[in-house]
Amino acid sequence: MQYPEPVAKLIDSFMRLPGIGHKTAIRLAYFVVDMNADDVSKFSSALKETKDKLRYCSICGNLTEEDPCVICKDKSRDQNIVLVVEQPKDIMVMEKMKSYHGLYHVLGGVLSPIEGTGPEDLNIKSLIKRLQTNSNIKEVIIATNATPEGEATAMYLSRLIKPAGIKVTRLAHGLSVGSDIEYADEMTLSRAVSGRTEI
Ligand SMILES: [Zn+2]
Repeated sequence: MQYPEPVAKLIDSFMRLPGIGHKTAIRLAYFVVDMNADDVSKFSSALKETKDKLRYCSICGNLTEEDPCVICKDKSRDQNIVLVVEQPKDIMVMEKMKSYHGLYHVLGGVLSPIEGTGPEDLNIKSLIKRLQTNSNIKEVIIATNATPEGEATAMYLSRLIKPAGIKVTRLAHGLSVGSDIEYADEMTLSRAVSGRTEI
C-alpha cells in the first residue's frame, strides 16, 4: 500500500530538509495532516514568503526584505568596522548580543577544497570592493567559525586585506576549536569580540 499522493509529496519535501530522515519525514507529514487548516495555511505562506520577499543585501550579503538592509542603512552604527561572518544567521546571533555596533559582511560560506568552494564562490569580491570604495572602514573582524575551514578562510582574507592598510582581527578567546558562532552563548561571544586579536 502506498501513501496517498499529497502525503508522499509532503514526505519527499520534508526529506529535503537537513537532518530529516525518512522516519521523521513521515511523522512530520502525518502531523501536518492532523493540523488545523488555519495553521497549515500560515505554515505554507511562511514558506512561500521566505522565497518571495527575501533577497540578499547588495552591500553586505545579509538576508533582507529591503535593499540595502536595515543595518547597512543605519548611519548611527560604527561605520569604521566590519565584522565578517559565514552566514546571515550569524548576524542574528551577534545582534542578540547587543555589544557590537559596527557593520557586517556575509561570506555565504567558507573556503573548502573538499567541497570545491573557492574564493569566487563566496562574497569576497564584494568585500574587497567595499573596502576599496569606503575609506571609513578601518578594521575588519573575521568571525568565521573556529573550524579548519573557518581558520583557513580567516587567514586567506587577512592576507588579502592587510596590504590595504586595514587592521584585520579575529575572534579569539572563548570560542573553542570546532565550535560554531551559532552555538556560542552571549557571554562567550561578547568576550570573543572584546578580546579579538590582530592576525
Ligand atoms: Zn546590508
